[in-house]
Amino acid sequence: MRIVLLGAPGAGKGTQAALISERYNIPHISTGDILREAVKQETELGLKAESYMSKGELVPDEVVIGLAADRLKQPDCGKGFLLDGFPRTVAQAEALDKVLQNMGIKLDAVLSLDVDETEVVRRLSSRRVCEDCAAIHTSAVSEDDIAKACDLCGGRLVVRADDQPEAIRRRLQVYKEQTEPLIQYYSGSGILKRVPASGTVEEVFGRVADVLKS
Ligand code: AMP
Repeated sequence: MRIVLLGAPGAGKGTQAALISERYNIPHISTGDILREAVKQETELGLKAESYMSKGELVPDEVVIGLAADRLKQPDCGKGFLLDGFPRTVAQAEALDKVLQNMGIKLDAVLSLDVDETEVVRRLSSRRVCEDCAAIHTSAVSEDDIAKACDLCGGRLVVRADDQPEAIRRRLQVYKEQTEPLIQYYSGSGILKRVPASGTVEEVFGRVADVLKS
């Protein structure tokens, strides 16, 4: 199964992607995770990406397209893949089409997780991420909870730089301007599936699994 997952920041892409990847036994490719790891390791890519990411801006297309294309050529993608956070612009979607065409393969589904803006802002402002294992903690938390540890690995829970209020506003604006047009881009393809993403993680995953069955 070859899947693209679309959705506004805070729509629950990362959480659903982990579940889909496990259920269908396909690698979860998150360009955001790859970029965050590069920032942490202070690689050349990380140094280039950091200033865009912390402001809530998109990393330039040519950087991200190369990174995604390289990842898709890894042998584990032979059994399928789930792209989370890529493509994010029409130029990236066109580049993805070309890469897949050259590989002689096609997407099976483009899932769009649809959620309203108030809900997205609430989710992002209360989100904490483990500094060590990158697990996302989404339950509403207070400032004090930053001191609490990750219940999976004991790592420190922190607010992502791009979950600060100013960056959240910018990311939502960037999503509307640059990523939402992808709904239109894929709408004629017959593989676009829109999934309401409000409710519990299990409820949303139930809808995702139903849509992927059909
Ligand atoms: P995410 O974890 O998917 O929300 O991504 C976090 C940040 O990484 C984004 O706000 C962008 O700065 C950057 N990023 C991730 N994926 C892409 C992409 N496909 N194109 C451009 N920038 C990206």
